[in-house]
Amino acid sequence: MTNVKTSSLGYPRIGENREWKHALEAFWAHKITEAEFESIMKELRLHHLNKQKKNGLDLIPVGDFTYYDHVLDTATMLGFIPERFDHSGEKVSLSTYFSMARGNQSVQASEMTKWFNTNYHYIVPEINGTTAKLTVNRPLQAYLEAKDELGINGKPVILGPFTFLKLSKGYQDEQFAEILKSLVPVYIKILKELQDAGATWVQLDEPSLVTTITKEEMDLISHVYKQFSQELSSLSIMLQTYFDSVSFYEDVINLPVKGIGLDFVHGAQQTYEKLERVGFPTDKVLGVGIVDGRNIWRSDLHAIYEQLQRISRIVPAERQILQPSSSLLHVPVSLAQESALDPLLKKTLAFADEKLGELELLKQALTDPSEKTRAKFHESHSAIKALAQSPWRTKAKGAFRGPSKRSRPFAERQALQRAKWSLPLLPTTTIGSFPQTNEIRRARNLWRKGELEETAYKNLINEKIKKWIEIQEEIGLDVFVHGEFERNDMVEFFGEKLAGFAFTTFGWVQSYGSRCVKPPIIFGDVAFIEPMTVEETAYAQSLTSKPVKGMLTGPVTILTWSFVRNDLPLKDVAFQIAQALIQEIEALEAAGIEMIQVDEPALREGLPLKQEDKAEYLAWAVESFQLATSTVKDTTQIHTHMCYSDFHEIIDEIRALDADVISIETSRSHGELITAFETNVYDKEIGLGVYDIHSPRIPSEEEMTKVIERAISVLPYELFWVNPDCGLKTRAEEETIAALTNMVKAAKNVRETLPSKNTSLQ
Ligand code: GLN
Ligand code: ZN
Repeated sequence: MTNVKTSSLGYPRIGENREWKHALEAFWAHKITEAEFESIMKELRLHHLNKQKKNGLDLIPVGDFTYYDHVLDTATMLGFIPERFDHSGEKVSLSTYFSMARGNQSVQASEMTKWFNTNYHYIVPEINGTTAKLTVNRPLQAYLEAKDELGINGKPVILGPFTFLKLSKGYQDEQFAEILKSLVPVYIKILKELQDAGATWVQLDEPSLVTTITKEEMDLISHVYKQFSQELSSLSIMLQTYFDSVSFYEDVINLPVKGIGLDFVHGAQQTYEKLERVGFPTDKVLGVGIVDGRNIWRSDLHAIYEQLQRISRIVPAERQILQPSSSLLHVPVSLAQESALDPLLKKTLAFADEKLGELELLKQALTDPSEKTRAKFHESHSAIKALAQSPWRTKAKGAFRGPSKRSRPFAERQALQRAKWSLPLLPTTTIGSFPQTNEIRRARNLWRKGELEETAYKNLINEKIKKWIEIQEEIGLDVFVHGEFERNDMVEFFGEKLAGFAFTTFGWVQSYGSRCVKPPIIFGDVAFIEPMTVEETAYAQSLTSKPVKGMLTGPVTILTWSFVRNDLPLKDVAFQIAQALIQEIEALEAAGIEMIQVDEPALREGLPLKQEDKAEYLAWAVESFQLATSTVKDTTQIHTHMCYSDFHEIIDEIRALDADVISIETSRSHGELITAFETNVYDKEIGLGVYDIHSPRIPSEEEMTKVIERAISVLPYELFWVNPDCGLKTRAEEETIAALTNMVKAAKNVRETLPSKNTSLQ
């Protein structure tokens, strides 16, 4: 009999039915009082702890719950409250906390960005010369609450100082070491108070250890943790990493802490290799992140059992704590309510609650294996096997239809395309979607429920298309779009029409603040069934003599915004999607649509965390785009679109996509992006967004004229397109028309000043 323990790194906040989101939004809308809000939140928090307790978890995380974001919690706990927010005294009020998260009429919210390579977004802490000071010991509060209310001796979860500072802004690189040092006494205070309250374990999250860091930085971390260990007696630190293998394995395992938590799912190969080659200290506990905390697939318990045997050869089971590979924040709460899923598929899934159940089974198997445990192991194995052998997963691997290069180089295509399209200089266009009114949303919901007839729904969509074709004529745009009225979401829309995708009913995960998303599940071979976008696009084209762009979502974005099957490399799934898109593109071409935009807003998001892994990812990401878009005629113009402006890192790959035209979001950081293009000659056609669509403000003609002038002072004007930053789906109709009217006027103003007498691009 072996004595092995289980733990978890964090539990989803949102609740089985998104109670968390609803409470937050009700509070923001002043529909409930602060006291009511606090009491709903407490109830949820305790409910989550109870569920974990019932699941038999030995070490239950506390303090991972939040009212918005755990990084914001850490910043406000350490006293990093930018001056522009109203704050005085010790306590951080809820109103200060939420204005940092969301802004208010008079102050701008803090910046928000992606949490490592996940779809969760955190609030970026601002240091700006502030010295750390403990405002409130949040982990202590959480620890005491769990102890007093439920008798749970919880494991407080705290974002570690190194990662906290890495994720912050408002300081120079040279100041890093000094600021890190100044955080140490505050962390020591937090830890000591926890120790005094009786806590035995504390989890310090340092996921930045899996990114590419320098040896100097690693030494700083060692120094910090050494100071922690000198100050603590009965409190043990679990130094927790996740999302990949750690960069400095030997240094990390030798940190003076009691436990080291490693990810045995993501970057597992390197972690096993290091563990087996270098070993693991005999006086430490190993946090074994063995159940995937990032994806929704059930574990093959037989396979995991084997892996644990392998680990046990280096670290005996008594010194292991079995846990998910990361916080369960990234998966939905429970499968219990998913009654609409195909039973064969459902049996292969595990959300947060089911994952905790798996840990419990693994523990049982190791401590006191019974017939029942064995049966469960067998069940998990057969369920996964059944899916693997199902007709959904039969596609021959690796046999992809080429070509993956356009038949002529860009320069030749460009000449042919100019002759074909005769667009003016600085052609104007939009990114795809036009405002989605409540009327459309309501109609779509009714139609989905079967309460509105298909023809009535389609008629409404067609009415909108017609209305917006007329508006585009009126405004005088050069290249039109149909407006994407039939789409709720750019990934879901295609997922519902392609083979290989499934949709849950309650499978929500937090994206940022109260916003949750319900990612599709790519469970089988992705395949084209029938044309998905031809009808609406061809209808739009029939109403105008201006070109209408076909509008598709690219393979990498579909992949990145879904839960993806884990039996194939991501690359293979991307190529399957690309194959399906080829057929859609051919169908569009056959219907006379010869400008086709393939959106890849998530291209950058999919980047791996380690520098050395990036090239491989980018290579297949680019190849999947090329695969999807290279069968077209030379005169067919392929467009692409990307959001977020931080492109310096991937400018070569953007070029390699070989799209004829790209549109990029830039208006929020114009200077930076233009510099990137200054230093990296970009030779294809490009539209740098001339106005920010995230704000209801209507940009003036003068303002956009200046933006265009500035852009063509860097880029050759023959290559430049004029368009907004992104899709206009979330904007109101009136403001959209006003903004686009000004945009077209601005383009015309600049067009008139251009040297070419003939302002057509022929
Ligand atoms: N074509 C999409 C739209 O306009 C692009 C959205 C995006 O980039 N996220 O809505
Ligand atoms: Zn966009």
